[in-house]
Amino acid sequence: MASFSLSISLNPNHSINDTVFFHRRHFLRRVATVSRLSGRKFLKQNLSSTKPENNRRKKLAAVRMSSDSHSYDVVVVGAGIIGLTIARQLLNGSDLSVAVVDAAVPCSGATGAGQGYIWMVHKVPGSEKWELAMRSRELWEKFAEDVKYKGMDPQEVLGWKKTGSLLVGKTSQEMAALKGKVEQLSKAGLKAELLSGTNLQEVEPALVIGEEGGAAFLPDDYQLDARRSVAYIEKENRRYATEGRYGEYYNQALTGFLRSDNGKVEAVKTSKSLLYSKKAVVIATGCWTGSLMQELIRDLDIEFDVPVKPRKGHLLVIENFSSLKLNHGLMEAGYVGHQDATLRPGAEPSSISMTATMDTSGNLVLGSSRQFVGFNTEISEHIINQIWERAGEFFPSLRQFSLTDLEKTRHVRVGLRPFMPGGKPMIGLVPGLSNVFVAAGHEGEGLSLALGTAEMVADMVLGNPPKVDSAPYALHTHCSR
Ligand SMILES: Cc1cc2nc3c(=O)[nH]c(=O)nc-3n(C[C@H](O)[C@H](O)[C@H](O)COP(=O)(O)OP(=O)(O)OC[C@H]3O[C@@H](n4cnc5c(N)ncnc54)[C@H](O)[C@@H]3O)c2cc1C
Repeated sequence: MASFSLSISLNPNHSINDTVFFHRRHFLRRVATVSRLSGRKFLKQNLSSTKPENNRRKKLAAVRMSSDSHSYDVVVVGAGIIGLTIARQLLNGSDLSVAVVDAAVPCSGATGAGQGYIWMVHKVPGSEKWELAMRSRELWEKFAEDVKYKGMDPQEVLGWKKTGSLLVGKTSQEMAALKGKVEQLSKAGLKAELLSGTNLQEVEPALVIGEEGGAAFLPDDYQLDARRSVAYIEKENRRYATEGRYGEYYNQALTGFLRSDNGKVEAVKTSKSLLYSKKAVVIATGCWTGSLMQELIRDLDIEFDVPVKPRKGHLLVIENFSSLKLNHGLMEAGYVGHQDATLRPGAEPSSISMTATMDTSGNLVLGSSRQFVGFNTEISEHIINQIWERAGEFFPSLRQFSLTDLEKTRHVRVGLRPFMPGGKPMIGLVPGLSNVFVAAGHEGEGLSLALGTAEMVADMVLGNPPKVDSAPYALHTHCSR
């Protein structure tokens, strides 16, 4: 597949682990893999056949017998935060069996780069995504409580901490906007406060923004550590392997669908396996979803586009940094505009906005950049310097260090956010395919929105009434834009 230059230069920090398989005992019957067809050929020869029914059935049977095949109720493709939490929701909330497929390993996509804020401070009450954001936050709180109930420390296990968040303004215009924001958030039922420059200095002494400035403060906002949370979710999901309800198929890209005459996708083909999906297939492949779906439906009589684009982001991490103390998570007020910055006609191709968090291991995490540069994941020192300089404008004490001084303790995370035009993810059934769902396009909010998305997808698969209106995310809504 052309788009699989993916394989997989994504995160400089991730190491490719060995593939982990958990099979149902009766699926352990491993047979030689004879199908070495590429996804494209697979599609051509197996999906769009116009040959008579008998030939078709024989062909399907041949594939069935000759491939390394396994069967699950649901196959989830993509082991980022979205795919893994969907698997978790289905495993915890039903008796279905679930396979998770990834072209690489978890955290090799955007998820491994995520800063980890689960914040409401920059969200807009009443907007299309508000309900999903609120539900997700509630589910994250329950998740952390559940960890605690099981006798573990959510801070240790998930990097979970109620740090509170500060959306920081420097000018009187920004302060006026922040005042409106605090009123809006308070009306929506959240604890929110407007801090003057003096009050802000008291709660966050390292921050220097001048007298006109201040911040919108949400004391109940949280942060987590994406990698720790993913590791815990994987561990939880794997518990179901002993019941024969869970399988991981890592380091194997999805290459094709196997479709029956009634339009149902019967199985998915990966580079190593054939996985039958008795109930549903969920495609949660982040910024790769557009090219993947195009390839999968190319020879089917379906016209459908997932207009997701990779939006590169850098984060600068300084390990065990004790020279700056942060009491909260911080984001500059301009971050809100920064999300749209590179979209305006004639805009700079990259945008930098200050975000700063201290993770539970004492690492200072500084962000962030947004760039449209295709699937390129190389580290740009130029961008890193800009992030550092921007942070120095808010935390002048950082200026006593140069990035060269910090060479040994700094590292950079790069990820490709799945950007969707219109600013909201696609979550729903693929038009023309009766059992294939897409959940992708969460851009810079995938960690925050993951659990609400997972619940939404699981409810769709199970036919349960939705907890949150899913209409704004329906695939046809995006297509008609
Ligand atoms: C710098 C940065 C900071 C961020 N900070 C935050 C934050 O603080 N809070 C927040 O809420 N969000 C944040 N985000 C956004 C968040 O990380 C993403 O929205 C989220 O990780 C997207 O998750 P995903 O599962 O959709 O995609 P990904 O994590 O990219 O996962 C997609 C997976 O699909 C796999 N895949 C692709 N093609 C195939 C194929 N053909 N077959 C099988 N597998 C395939 C890939 O290998 C990958 O593992 C940040 C992002 C970046 C880059």
